[in-house]
Amino acid sequence: MKIAIDGPAGAGKSTVAQRVAKRLGMLYVDTGAMYRAATLTALTRGCSIEDEQCLRDLLDTIDLTLEIHDGMQRVYVDGEDVTEAIRSLEVTRRVSTVAAHPLVREKLVDMQRRIASRKNVVMDGRDIGTSVLPDAELKVFLTASIEERARRRLQELEQKGVKAEYGELLRDIEERDRKDSEREIAPLKQAKDAVLVDTTGCSIDEVVDRIVCLHRE
Ligand code: C5P
Repeated sequence: MKIAIDGPAGAGKSTVAQRVAKRLGMLYVDTGAMYRAATLTALTRGCSIEDEQCLRDLLDTIDLTLEIHDGMQRVYVDGEDVTEAIRSLEVTRRVSTVAAHPLVREKLVDMQRRIASRKNVVMDGRDIGTSVLPDAELKVFLTASIEERARRRLQELEQKGVKAEYGELLRDIEERDRKDSEREIAPLKQAKDAVLVDTTGCSIDEVVDRIVCLHRE
């Protein structure tokens, strides 16, 4: 059983996907975290985010692993826990450039398909329904107004004690969505057979219930 949850930045995919996975006893896989881990590693090991071959060589040599602890996904690079570090503003601003390289995607998509071939998964990302798992039994395209997505991001950062500015977050989200939608390979797009779920004004519980219902239909 595979459930694909795609959508633009800040639509609440990871929170929702994680809870859906818990309710249904499935494995949650946050694919954005893999692109983020690749970006962080490139930044810390001096590989240019424009240099596709350097990024691919790096991915071929590092040990990138995802583990679930208390229902939450944690990300490791060569044994180091980078779960928090991959959420930095610097990584967030650069990740779309890294994710646009075909050689990077080839490697990470291969990993994602291997995970999904062994387990029942709820996988979230940008291209899960269109490209990674085109045969997923349920595909959801999760979205919300850009203003709401920026507000949620601001709240999330404030809860972590990180200072941020609403207008800047809104521009960052817009820019990331533009890059993710305009790239040549596996752009952010709703799959033809995906159900559109607009979460503007909805609580997390409402969205989770709706997806669990769709799964049972
Ligand atoms: O989901 P998250 O916002 O953490 O994703 C970070 C970035 O990773 C996205 O903006 C996108 O550039 C890239 N990504 C992708 N394909 C996926 C998941 C994420 O290109 N399946």
